[in-house]
Amino acid sequence: MSERTRGMMNWLWEKKCLAVVKALERRNFTSVYCPAASDAAEYILKQAEDAQSVGFGGSMTVSDLQVTEPLQSMGKELLIHGNPNLTPEEKMMVMRRQLTCDLFLASANAVTIDGVLVNVDGVGNRVAAMIFGPKKVILTVGRNKIVDGGIEDACKRVRQQASPPNAMRLGKNTPCAMTGMCADCASPDRICNVTAVFERKPQRTDFHVLVVNDDLGF
Ligand code: SF4
Repeated sequence: MSERTRGMMNWLWEKKCLAVVKALERRNFTSVYCPAASDAAEYILKQAEDAQSVGFGGSMTVSDLQVTEPLQSMGKELLIHGNPNLTPEEKMMVMRRQLTCDLFLASANAVTIDGVLVNVDGVGNRVAAMIFGPKKVILTVGRNKIVDGGIEDACKRVRQQASPPNAMRLGKNTPCAMTGMCADCASPDRICNVTAVFERKPQRTDFHVLVVNDDLGF
């Protein structure tokens, strides 16, 4: 792709991201347009200043932002259940503590052009923490998560584009982790057990959504 074409495409994505930001604001979320992933990282570090504990929902997007080291050097307690050194009991304990952390960081599996957030979870810990408990929630959403249609299209995006690579990276024994395609499985490892649709901001959560003009996560 030529530089000129890339510039035009970025302009088009910017318009789309800004439309989503406006739509999220109409739904009472605090929403910010970020031209690049580094802007999202900067925003998160600023918002984390008052937080003692920071929970991580297990998102590739958040991991790409590389905020863990700076947060650690700020003296924050990091609650990361994906740490491979944890025993299953310790992992459960970390997930429970995430539910009452000061700041919870995650992404969304999809956002509609009119600002509805859709998240699909296997255990449900990630969506539970987004809804109630943490003092502040920040979702970082790459432009690739935007769908032009409604909730049905968002759910389709999750099953077709988000869950298969997530199941594969998490080493799940599901059909999609092998074929890349959803088979609406009944596997005990299924990661699509809970679908949370955020039509508006949950009342008691300080909820921020950063819409980034870049492709992040799945
Ligand atoms: S195969 Fe199962 S785990 Fe994979 S996307 Fe479909 S329902 Fe989800």
